[in-house]
Amino acid sequence: MVISQLLASGGLWLNLSGTEILVDPGPGCIVQASKKKLKADKLGAIILSHRHLDHSADVNIMVEAMTQGGLKQHGKLFAPVDALEAEPVIFSFLKDHLEGVEVLEEGKSYSIGDISFTTPVRHIHPVETYGMVFRTARHTFSHITDTRYFEGLSSYYGGELLIINLVFLEPRTQADHPGMPIDHLSVPDAAHIITELKPRVAILTHFGMSVWRAKPWQIAEKLSQQTGVKVIAARDGMKFDLAELDEV
Ligand SMILES: [Zn+2]
Repeated sequence: MVISQLLASGGLWLNLSGTEILVDPGPGCIVQASKKKLKADKLGAIILSHRHLDHSADVNIMVEAMTQGGLKQHGKLFAPVDALEAEPVIFSFLKDHLEGVEVLEEGKSYSIGDISFTTPVRHIHPVETYGMVFRTARHTFSHITDTRYFEGLSSYYGGELLIINLVFLEPRTQADHPGMPIDHLSVPDAAHIITELKPRVAILTHFGMSVWRAKPWQIAEKLSQQTGVKVIAARDGMKFDLAELDEV
């Protein structure tokens, strides 16, 4: 999906009571952000859930943009240690433009202005990967990023809104897909998680080709019927206002 750019891969741009946070700036983030008139110099932080290219490819240019080419030392970068050490995803000269770099670890809490987030559990994925639970003065919401399903996954996440990275239509086993990546959630996994967590709204995103071919909006409709939760399939450039959660 990323190579074809059938769908954009720029990540999630949060604006939480004025604190702007970019999550997982994949390839094209700078292009998508400028098209949408999102201002990188307003960002307070960039968070990488993990080092895979579809989540981190534009991190350097986004740090450059956040710090106005280094003119304004500003903003933080959050990432797992394996994105920062042996083969860092960020150039060292850009790190100096930041206010700080913080290492994501299992069970830790972090703050960006008035916003806090936690990375409750290490995911099952080929590199060190975390999802996030964000807390604002009014809302709590979770983002379950790339992971293979595991027992108890839902118990780490919660809140009124759940954002799930949904890559596969059907669960995959290594035996059936030798050499292929399998550590991602499938539609039955998403159904299970949404049923357990019962958020007010669930947003599906990060679709793999099998999900795309099955039409994500139809999958969302079926999941809504199956779970009784309002499930939305993300679209490129989609905006979601957290205030909508108070009306559901
Ligand atoms: Zn990944």
